[in-house]
Amino acid sequence: MPSVQSPADTDARALEVLGRVWGYGQFRDVQADIVRTVVEGNNALVLMPTGGGKSLCYQVPSLLRPGVGIVVSPLIALMKDQVDALRQFGVRAAFLNSSLDMQSVREVESALLAGELDMLYVAPERLLLPRTLDLLERAPVALFAIDEAHCVSQWGHDFRPEYGQLGVLPQRFPDIPRVALTATADDRTRADILNVLELRGAAQFISSFDRPNIQYRVANKEGPKTQLLDFIHAEHRGDAGIVYCLSRKSVEQTAQWLVTQRVDAVPYHAGLSPRERNHAQERFLNDEGVVVVATVAFGMGIDKPNVRFVAHLDLPKSMEGYYQETGRAGRDGLPSTAWMVYGLADVVNVKRMLSQSDAPDDVKRVEAAKLDALLTYCEAATCRRQLLLSYFGEERNEPCGNCDICLNPPKVRDATREAQMALSAAIRTGNRFGAAHLTDILLGQPTEKVVAMGHHLLPTFGVGKGHDDKMWRGLIRQLVSLGHLAAGEHYGLSATGKSRPLLKGETTLMLREDSLIPREKVRKRDRDASRSGRAPVDSQDAPLFEALRAWRLQLARQKAVPPYAIFSDATLKAICELRPGSAAMLGTVSGVGQRKLADYGEDVLEIVREHSGSERARPASAAERGVRENSAVLGLLRGAEERTSFQPMREPVQPRTSQPLLSVSSSEPEAPPSPVHTEIAEALRELRRELTRETSHSAFVIFPNATLEALAAACPRTVEELQGLPGMGPKRIENYGERIVDAIRTVLDG
Ligand code: ADP
Ligand code: ZN
Repeated sequence: MPSVQSPADTDARALEVLGRVWGYGQFRDVQADIVRTVVEGNNALVLMPTGGGKSLCYQVPSLLRPGVGIVVSPLIALMKDQVDALRQFGVRAAFLNSSLDMQSVREVESALLAGELDMLYVAPERLLLPRTLDLLERAPVALFAIDEAHCVSQWGHDFRPEYGQLGVLPQRFPDIPRVALTATADDRTRADILNVLELRGAAQFISSFDRPNIQYRVANKEGPKTQLLDFIHAEHRGDAGIVYCLSRKSVEQTAQWLVTQRVDAVPYHAGLSPRERNHAQERFLNDEGVVVVATVAFGMGIDKPNVRFVAHLDLPKSMEGYYQETGRAGRDGLPSTAWMVYGLADVVNVKRMLSQSDAPDDVKRVEAAKLDALLTYCEAATCRRQLLLSYFGEERNEPCGNCDICLNPPKVRDATREAQMALSAAIRTGNRFGAAHLTDILLGQPTEKVVAMGHHLLPTFGVGKGHDDKMWRGLIRQLVSLGHLAAGEHYGLSATGKSRPLLKGETTLMLREDSLIPREKVRKRDRDASRSGRAPVDSQDAPLFEALRAWRLQLARQKAVPPYAIFSDATLKAICELRPGSAAMLGTVSGVGQRKLADYGEDVLEIVREHSGSERARPASAAERGVRENSAVLGLLRGAEERTSFQPMREPVQPRTSQPLLSVSSSEPEAPPSPVHTEIAEALRELRRELTRETSHSAFVIFPNATLEALAAACPRTVEELQGLPGMGPKRIENYGERIVDAIRTVLDG
């Protein structure tokens, strides 16, 4: 279309709108270029990480071009929030999807035709209806924005068939600019987007995928629920967060456990009723400090900007998945944490699932490569951010200083000899035994199975006695992760072709020493170095920040919009720092546009004034109220508020010394419930807690959960009887044998 305006004019108008409507002083990164391109009527492809600021790339042009901006977005559940948030800025926005009744649809349609809308959000299936397409042909359309554009591709992780049909847009509206936006697109997905939406030749804007405010951390899984609770208590008390688990069962168990530990948590997975899911989503969006425990079904399109942490209790499927999920933290740019625990069982599990899936071979190969990249990331001994970015094609020279590896560099050592031992144990036993059995052989444990198989006669038997089983499990996990061992049927591990040079001594293997530093020390160091923490403001600003948050929450409830639609955390933080004394001053704060200044200016100035003399006590937190509310709801949903299997705490929470629950990983079955068994298991856990404190070893080193289970089942009364039980090697018997049988006898003899 002929443009009478020069690029400089366009830029000036765009900046004016950005300041007047959104209250932002400048565009970020490539936003200005994108806005100019689209305002001038050209197509664009935008690849920008979550939180990068994609929305403004089509919102600003929608206001600057004549007509209404049409936004295609896959998640109808969130459209209302997006539209509400825009209306807070004074933008005339509406949405069309299946949640509207006919009357409302007609109202939106006539507003559209009358030119009374700036922006219209449409679900793809609604857009594709002949009725809608006809309507759009009669309406003044400024642009089409296709959000989450990776959904067009079968290669992406989120293919949506309706997205595949969006080729109708270039066909029927060739002259209206299209801007496709996504946060995840590898080369293949990008090619699909260009094809389907006919964007060949369009300008492509690819910004850095770095999210500097997110701190990446990965730890060894030792008792995931307890580790999670420790993490939340130490760093994110009262913060909003998302916890991802693989199975529905572990979602529910984890949520319930958190609630019993006074964390305001709600479960979310595809097996819950729509009512339950809505409840979870609404609490998350509309309250402060809610933790959602979810399968990956949760989160896409969730725009909540102040999610302070994303935790993975199970491995994601790929780097793309991991990056997208962790990307939901910290959209507002404030410090946030991406935290994950994983263990050998997870690695073996995901590898096995993949090798046994019915997918066509080429798909499997792609998936296997994606998984391998993720595992390499998990096992990394170098800066995680560098690895992440390099996976997405961005090289970065300096380590980041804001990941666990940078903050707490692990020791790396030459583990070639040990790797050869483990590989040869696998090969000599026919490449079909699991990690536990291989570890027994390496440690020289004459378990029943080892003896029955004659494996105590192998030259490998006992060659690894110099290390403990934790080290061997860690090493085997790393060998599986790195592809030297492959997981097959029945969890059996086999040496792969990749391992040959290693076995022959032609290559060496440097591995991370999974630290044997006591957990407390590691964590303390983490915390000292950690940049993330509770309130994102300095302590002297905390009372004002909390007061503003409380005001925001109350107002949000009144207006039935999410709190962040009033003001973002970043804006509240800026207000705390500036402490404006006048409307003019408040108007300079980033995020305070004209409309919001008019609507909320007085309230905010009043609160600032109140806090500028004497500081007040922090108001009762919404999280505390939420916990009570949730307990009730969970109780109703699940039929029981406190099930014994959740180990209600008997003592005040002691995160640093508390021990893992029985189930190490979500894939392990729960304890069999015989009363004696349960009592002995509990006594052994208590003993292990004592021993952890005395020795500073982690629980797993004292004795693993599998051993604890075996002990509780066998009830040995003498040290002799301990021999041959899984995990009870000579060293363990020598160190802890007496204490173990003592503990068991105490229970048995009442
Ligand atoms: P994305 O859709 O890419 O995940 P959003 O569009 O939701 O990201 O933007 C993330 C956050 O950054 C929002 O809170 C938004 O208001 C803010 N933001 C975006 N662009 C700017 C800017 N130029 N100045 C200040 N804040 C911005
Ligand atoms: Zn780093």
